[in-house]
Amino acid sequence: MNNIYNYTKQALESYFEEIGESKFRADQIFDWLYVKRVKSFDEMTNLKKDLIKYLKEKFILDEIKLVKKQSDVDVKKYLFNLRDGNKIEAVLMNHDYGNSICVSTQVGCNMGCLFCESGRLKKLRNLDVCELVLQILKVEEDTKQRISHVVLMGIGEPFDNYDNVMNFINIINDPKGINIGIRHITVSTCGIVPKIKEFTKEKAGVNLAISLHAPFDEIRNKIMPINKVYKICDIIDAVKEYIKATNRRVTFEYILLKDINDTSDCAKALASLLKDLNCYVNLIPYNETSNTKYKKSDKVTINKFYDILKESNINVTIRREFGSNVSAACGQLRSEQIKKEGK
Ligand code: SAH
Repeated sequence: MNNIYNYTKQALESYFEEIGESKFRADQIFDWLYVKRVKSFDEMTNLKKDLIKYLKEKFILDEIKLVKKQSDVDVKKYLFNLRDGNKIEAVLMNHDYGNSICVSTQVGCNMGCLFCESGRLKKLRNLDVCELVLQILKVEEDTKQRISHVVLMGIGEPFDNYDNVMNFINIINDPKGINIGIRHITVSTCGIVPKIKEFTKEKAGVNLAISLHAPFDEIRNKIMPINKVYKICDIIDAVKEYIKATNRRVTFEYILLKDINDTSDCAKALASLLKDLNCYVNLIPYNETSNTKYKKSDKVTINKFYDILKESNINVTIRREFGSNVSAACGQLRSEQIKKEGK
């Protein structure tokens, strides 16, 4: 049966028009689901009895179940069971500017980045729109606090589940629904160039982040297999087009891996690659996992890398470390749970 949380407002309106109902029902349902947050059609008391009965026959509401939570001072990690028994995770971070959630977009991931836990578990399927939306609703229900920012940086490659991701963004951005500002939503990609181009055409105002992690193809090929398909220069060209079309600043994520991509030469090459681009670089101290051989760069190296970028007038920050105590790096909780269950 179809899940009601799969529907954008526009899709619901067309649905109701097709069945001879007023399209205003879509507004009412959005209000019940996303403002009043009811859990059943029976609670939608301003709908006719017949319509409630009809909706109950056609749609389900619940689909993901919270099975585990780990909390630290300013981070909470959630593990969810999906209807088919698969598991996904979401991470909530408390910042001084609000609460930001990192959502998963796929069960597993096919990109195969060698430093990343998620990629060890191959993609089993894309998440449905409802499974994306419900990560937000369930976490807000748990914390009783509003989520103000959404980053698509959990398990999976958002641009490998493009249509569902775009519909999800449409739903959470609806001003009469969850109402998360478009500029508070960030999509992160490992660099699927045709999708960056498609995304550019949407001119949606969503933030774009690129997981670059190396300024040389030679290094990037070794840590990110996708680079054999889309080279660094292709990504940079696509990003230039995006900036030209949208006038938005792009974020480049750069994990610092000891003795792999953290040398002064890398920093200098990165600075010259990004020169004159409207962008900023987020340096990420690597969150070590027991399953990869990679190590975190030491503080001195990280600071030196930062200084070289700064001196070249690149906007740069070092990401504050969240959640290493709660296995918050991408895919870690899920992978631990699967190991425990012996699957
Ligand atoms: N597939 C998308 C989004 C998911 S990964 C992408 O590649 O952007 C989100 C970010 O977390 C990426 O920049 C990824 O490279 C990074 N990441 C993965 N494993 C990590 C780890 N162990 N420590 C720090 N960052 C990690």
